[in-house]
Amino acid sequence: MRRVVRHTVMPRRALMEGYDRPSMLENRAGKLRLDMNENLPGCSPKVRAALRRLSAEALSMYPEKETAAARLAPQFGVQAGEMLVVGGIDEALRLISDAYIERGRSVLLVEPTFPMYRFYAEQRDARIHTLRYDEEMGFPLGEVLRALKRQPAVFFLANPNNPTGNLLDARGLEKILNAATHTLVVVDEAYFEFSGVTVLPLIRRRRNLAVTRTFSKAAGLAGLRVGCIFAHRDVAAILKRAQAPFPVGTVALVAAEAALKDPAFVRRAVREIRQGRVILDRGLSRLGVRVFPSAANFVLVDFGVRRLAITAALERRGILVRDQASSFKRPGFVRITIGTAKQMRRFLSVVETIL
Ligand code: PMP
Repeated sequence: MRRVVRHTVMPRRALMEGYDRPSMLENRAGKLRLDMNENLPGCSPKVRAALRRLSAEALSMYPEKETAAARLAPQFGVQAGEMLVVGGIDEALRLISDAYIERGRSVLLVEPTFPMYRFYAEQRDARIHTLRYDEEMGFPLGEVLRALKRQPAVFFLANPNNPTGNLLDARGLEKILNAATHTLVVVDEAYFEFSGVTVLPLIRRRRNLAVTRTFSKAAGLAGLRVGCIFAHRDVAAILKRAQAPFPVGTVALVAAEAALKDPAFVRRAVREIRQGRVILDRGLSRLGVRVFPSAANFVLVDFGVRRLAITAALERRGILVRDQASSFKRPGFVRITIGTAKQMRRFLSVVETIL
């Protein structure tokens, strides 16, 4: 009889824990998904038409991301050498971490923020220097400027930030870039279409800046995993060296190009979500629920002691929201993705029955 040899090969310590995935990521289709900041109006019909036109030949070939980048670049007002097409911002963060975080260097974060910054920094064995949004969700600009003097390798900043929703203005961002003498500042503009504030034009004269964008949010293509990094051409060239040859599939590249050809769709979706936000804000405020201001397609709210009763009632009716109690250590906090006016009324009607 052959003996089974059980050698135990341990992975790196940083990989033992993994990303703390939100629960309830299965069976979300058909529900009112207010939990993942996706675009509830969906995606442009022009994207679906472009996907239907894909030929067998197109699918049988390896994807050409450089050709795609050359076509996408003018839509963002940049040159192909100043951008990378990536498999969502998730891939962007991994590339940036691989290229810029040497083992033992530090990474600056202001938390709570998008958890993948910490995840990739930990995978690189970085020391993590964490600052925090204050009780009123204010951004600690003075502390950030001081922390940059200690020359962290990378500062990841979501603007607008997830899950607080707050937005740092152009002056604050300039101060950060001026203070970041030895730090790559990654401004994650995943929610740019909702906020309208960007530092993209600064990439040409700043070698300490990378801007990330995604097709997952306003363009409604989270299922396809496609986004971009914009940076000075010298920085972009370094990042390209860290990238695999075919990280983004043809289906995603074709969809991204078609999405950019239909800016009216995104404008309409952003308008619908603004209307939804007004209804949600007013409805919750009327019920005495604190709503933090947000420049993105979600809001952070404080349900106080009723949080569990409310989220359970919502779940029974097929409405998903994202619990944020543990990120803030505040028991009532929940993040709600904003949908259309009709979807927000449906959400409010359930909350009203509990309150
Ligand atoms: N950045 C931020 C700030 C986010 O909130 C999210 C999604 N929740 C992402 C990036 C992920 O983007 P992508 O789908 O392009 O990986």
